[in-house]
Amino acid sequence: MAYQPKVVEAEVVSDNPKNGLFEINVVLQDRNHCRLIFERDLNTGAITPTHINRLYKEPCSICKKDFLCNCMTAYLQPIADQALAIAGK
Ligand SMILES: [Zn+2]
Repeated sequence: MAYQPKVVEAEVVSDNPKNGLFEINVVLQDRNHCRLIFERDLNTGAITPTHINRLYKEPCSICKKDFLCNCMTAYLQPIADQALAIAGK
């Protein structure tokens, strides 16, 4: 069955109004922590998630590694949507 990420906490950790870049740290229900990087178009206000990095507090829920992996990249969009809703962006 496909992994279904569920964001339980999301916090804006940086926000640069000059270039539109901002970062949100999220905690997933499975205890993985990730940092998402977003780009806000300064003209239209449209928000695009560009990167997701797992913070190495817990082994990855998908591959079980406790170091670098790229599993979360496939779930960037659903995690980003939930993060934006929770963080109120
Ligand atoms: Zn992984």
